[in-house]
Amino acid sequence: MREGVKEMGMIELDGALGEGGGQILRTSLTLAMITGQPFRIRRIRANRSKPGLMRQHLVAVQAAAQVCGADVSGASLGSQELEFIPGTLRGGDYRFAIGSAGSCTLVLQTVLPALLYAEVPSTLRVCGGTHNPMAPPVQFLQRAWCPRMAEMGAQIDLQLERFGFYPAGGGEVVATVQPCARLAPHEWMTRGERRQGYAESFTAGIPARVAQRELECVGQGMNWSEDQLFARRLPDEQGPGNALMLTLEYEHVTEVFTTFGEKSVTAENVARQAVGQARRYIASGAAVAEYLGDQLMLPLALAGGGGFTVDQASLHARTNAEVIELFLPVRFHFTHRDGLDCCVVEPR
Ligand code: AMP
Repeated sequence: MREGVKEMGMIELDGALGEGGGQILRTSLTLAMITGQPFRIRRIRANRSKPGLMRQHLVAVQAAAQVCGADVSGASLGSQELEFIPGTLRGGDYRFAIGSAGSCTLVLQTVLPALLYAEVPSTLRVCGGTHNPMAPPVQFLQRAWCPRMAEMGAQIDLQLERFGFYPAGGGEVVATVQPCARLAPHEWMTRGERRQGYAESFTAGIPARVAQRELECVGQGMNWSEDQLFARRLPDEQGPGNALMLTLEYEHVTEVFTTFGEKSVTAENVARQAVGQARRYIASGAAVAEYLGDQLMLPLALAGGGGFTVDQASLHARTNAEVIELFLPVRFHFTHRDGLDCCVVEPR
């Protein structure tokens, strides 16, 4: 990948671009590691209520720096400017501790694609949040993202060793990744026949009745029978926390919709939100939902081609496309195909 890069000048990024969130930073880190191009970013996460580097972003920067021996300046909590000059990618065994409920999965998604280009396999152990709002839960990566990566030739395996809910954290995930000389382009234009649908309510350190109420409400909302509803009780010390997860398996894709229990929200409302997301996706007819779409863009760009139909081409996706195009010789197109939003990437 690095041989293809002619222009090694510093890439300048504005963290207020488009959505102005953490994805701009994470995408830049991943692509800097892979292409060897240095970057400078100002106004990091400018459009978020607490701008700058939070613990999870700082750990993503540190993890990326460690994996490719980068020279970094501005890597401190709250920092709104960062310079990242990548060195050589090194596979191997790594351990990263976020030290809060910051998302383990977002840290993993920053470094895993880069480690595909290392010469040897890698194992990463990450401690922090495994189930937090605004990030993919571990099962989302296991069921929805990793199998799609496998279709492109990437072997990534994830084990959830311990749940870590927001705000306590304390979870642990272990990922292994095999080198992959070249990702293969892929298209997900249709989802195919539904194979399975089920709901799980994970609870730790909160009354079991919460899970029953959520699952009853999901059963009604999705017209699912009891054998599709699972209460998954976790050890109390992994809590307090509650995640409700709806999994829809199709011929070509699997989607996972997750909502989280909160003190001020009734179990029924947690269930209604999850059912609403799943039903919107089902009604859209698209192959993937918004979040999985976001997470397939960078791998497709690395492969140099492919695309998907998506229930909503979000600002997040459009912003991500702009950042990816700064690093890689590709162009994203957001179009409509058979009445569906469609995202396609082509070589430039
Ligand atoms: P950002 O807000 O820029 O830090 O990006 C958040 C990332 O988390 C995006 O890649 C989203 O696709 C992903 N994400 C957020 N919530 C969920 C969820 N409930 N399930 C799966 N992915 C999620």
